[in-house]
Amino acid sequence: MNDSKSHRNRIADHISSLPRSGIRDFFELVNSMDDVVSLGIGEPDFVTPWRIREATVYALERGHTSYTSNLGLRTLREEVCRYVPKRFNVQYDPETECIITVGVSEALDLAFRALINPGEEVIYHEPCYVSYAPSITMAHGVPVAVPTKEENDFSLDPADVEAAVTPNTKLLVLNFPNNPTGGDLDDEKKKALAEIAVANDLIVITDEIYSELTYGAQTPSIAAYQGMRDRTLLLHGFSKAHAMTGYRVGYACGPNDLVEAMMKIHQYTMLCASIIAQEAGVEALRHGERDMQAMRDEYRQRRNVITNRLNEAGLICRKPAGAFYVFPRITETGLSSEEFARQLLEKKKVAVVPGTAFGNSGEGYVRCSYATSMEEINEAMDRIQDFVHELA
Ligand code: PLP
Repeated sequence: MNDSKSHRNRIADHISSLPRSGIRDFFELVNSMDDVVSLGIGEPDFVTPWRIREATVYALERGHTSYTSNLGLRTLREEVCRYVPKRFNVQYDPETECIITVGVSEALDLAFRALINPGEEVIYHEPCYVSYAPSITMAHGVPVAVPTKEENDFSLDPADVEAAVTPNTKLLVLNFPNNPTGGDLDDEKKKALAEIAVANDLIVITDEIYSELTYGAQTPSIAAYQGMRDRTLLLHGFSKAHAMTGYRVGYACGPNDLVEAMMKIHQYTMLCASIIAQEAGVEALRHGERDMQAMRDEYRQRRNVITNRLNEAGLICRKPAGAFYVFPRITETGLSSEEFARQLLEKKKVAVVPGTAFGNSGEGYVRCSYATSMEEINEAMDRIQDFVHELA
């Protein structure tokens, strides 16, 4: 019984067979080294804007330290349901169609657990955020990856989705702008995907976490397309656009019965998101627009610099439409993604994430985050240029 092997045998099969996150392994190595320039981090380098932090302090000063309603603070749900139609062209009722969650992370978990029966298939696109496939597996679903391709600017080809649909498909997960590629979906693609969802009676979970960090035209959420409002869960949060990763607050909007099903799990597991984080969320939605735009402008400049410099260094890199990542191709170096990232770290002390951390279709690429200062970006680019030239 004290033998750790016997405990391993007691871990649920679907958990013990889950792989460790490739990012975690890689960053344990990075953290053991000094003077590393990191393009590996998937969160804003900005501190949360002061007015939001001040609202947090003020909430504490007023003694707001209690639980909130399970659905979340009514004021925050109202602000969410005022904001979402402005940005995404789709309307929700704060009383019955919106739930405040512990980040998009919890919203994803709730959605999968509320909707998936064992063995049902969930289509998602790959390369993608590291949690999708494991979260689907943990909800006893079957993850079905559809690759996105560099030649399509890492957008999703609706025909590939259609080909992946089987009678057993229940859900389609979308995340555009995308982590790790920066790819986006245009209006035409959203329309085609909406038609596929309607024709095949799919529920769509759209993870809009990077939606404000779009550098071209912003399109409505897929939830706004014909026939989609009542078959879509729109998940969003404050982590990226408002630089609030540590607050752990997000939300889900959707038809009442889906939100209610998510709520059932949330009330017994999380109970509610932190009240001070929720009050900070209210401030972000009421007065956070200008700070958000300033951060987006800075990301846009960094995106332009990093894309140009990677191409100059000989790594083909499309200019991404959104988020704060670029996904250069490294196949010309003759190295695999893992080898490239490892050698770059060991020889030049620059951290990038191997594309394979985001699924097998990330082979041949690495993810570089530009959520770091221009100075660090330029330093990393000097080192990458040397590294690539030395390899050649
Ligand atoms: N979805 C995507 C695509 C992400 O990249 C991340 C974080 O990196 C999350 C969700 C998690 O968001 P949150 O901090 O709101 O839990």
